[in-house]
Amino acid sequence: MDQKGRAWIELDMKNLASNLEQLKKLLPESCSIMPAVKANAYGHGAALIGRALQDMGIRDFCVASAGEGAELREAGITGQILVLGYTAPEEFRELPRYDLTQTAVDFSYAKQLQDYGIPLTVHVGVDTGMHRLGERSENLEKVCRIWEFERLKITGIFSHLCVSDGVSGGERAYTYRQIGAFNSVIRYLRERGITGFKTHLQGSYGILNYPELRCDYARPGIALYGVLSSPGDRTVSDINLKPVLSLKARIACVKALHAGETTGYGQAYTAEREMRTAAVSIGYADGIPRELSNKGKVLVNGYEAPVIGRVCMDQLTVDVTDIPRVSPGDEAVLIGRCGDEQITADEFARMAGTISNEILSRLGSRLHRTTV
Ligand SMILES: *Cc1c(COP(=O)(O)O)cnc(C)c1O
Repeated sequence: MDQKGRAWIELDMKNLASNLEQLKKLLPESCSIMPAVKANAYGHGAALIGRALQDMGIRDFCVASAGEGAELREAGITGQILVLGYTAPEEFRELPRYDLTQTAVDFSYAKQLQDYGIPLTVHVGVDTGMHRLGERSENLEKVCRIWEFERLKITGIFSHLCVSDGVSGGERAYTYRQIGAFNSVIRYLRERGITGFKTHLQGSYGILNYPELRCDYARPGIALYGVLSSPGDRTVSDINLKPVLSLKARIACVKALHAGETTGYGQAYTAEREMRTAAVSIGYADGIPRELSNKGKVLVNGYEAPVIGRVCMDQLTVDVTDIPRVSPGDEAVLIGRCGDEQITADEFARMAGTISNEILSRLGSRLHRTTV
């Protein structure tokens, strides 16, 4: 099917390579990048992004679920795939089947993995202050005892930072306490002769704000895709990230809207003058938040066109009154560049009251994904 059918994603793999190089340059030589390609590679398309990164020399990946790991294997990814989240015991068989590395989300879960009866490869999750997954870092003895489960091949240990995006004194102090707790666990293990595991701690903001840490891996997601979570986020490192994804859709219909008439469901927008409107072939089923009703914007022919009325499941309507020469079949840009104008994923997210991570990861399966 034509990739530019009704609504599609364009991926710029040169920008992906550039982001990868920039992140690598910030980190010590000995640290490898283990990209987060969960949630369909933040909506970009896990198979396309995974294969492109593999071609750029990446050997390790992380995902949220065993199903995502299986999908990457089927797409031809051959290196290590770490499942960061919970896999239910009913799904344990997928782990050896697809050669996935499973996170032991705490001591009792590690025991469940051991009790499965078949050897499994594991990274141990440690909770240093996020208080979500991981065995608590102060339970040193319990963390240690995970190594006694003889059917677990433990190849790594990691934690997750919860305010590494913040640069205030309090946020930095909290993060340093997390780093300290993680290092204490590693020291305790080594003192007991437990070695042979890799360490990792940093996501995107951990890399940007604490690039000096010496871990074996870092797990960037959002930064690798070339965007920050929110516009104007301040970071310690200064790097030039380039967006990988553009989101575009076709204009289906251009029409007059007379003064006093309304457009769309609930008659949520009323024309105060003679207008021209365009129906754009993308909606909330594709991941455009309904929150953008009467407040989003798209780019058409290099101009901004405000969203008017409610975002529908499959369409949205924009005001093109002041934009010259708009015709059915033209492209509307929702995220990306158009002439001299640009809408970045973080600006798009701000209009919808969220962060770019949420917007990107919700981009729907109906969108065609293609490289440029
Ligand atoms: C999603 C995730 C990441 C990547 O986060 P970004 O902020 O997008 O870089 C890293 N580590 C864990 C545990 C995650 O769940």
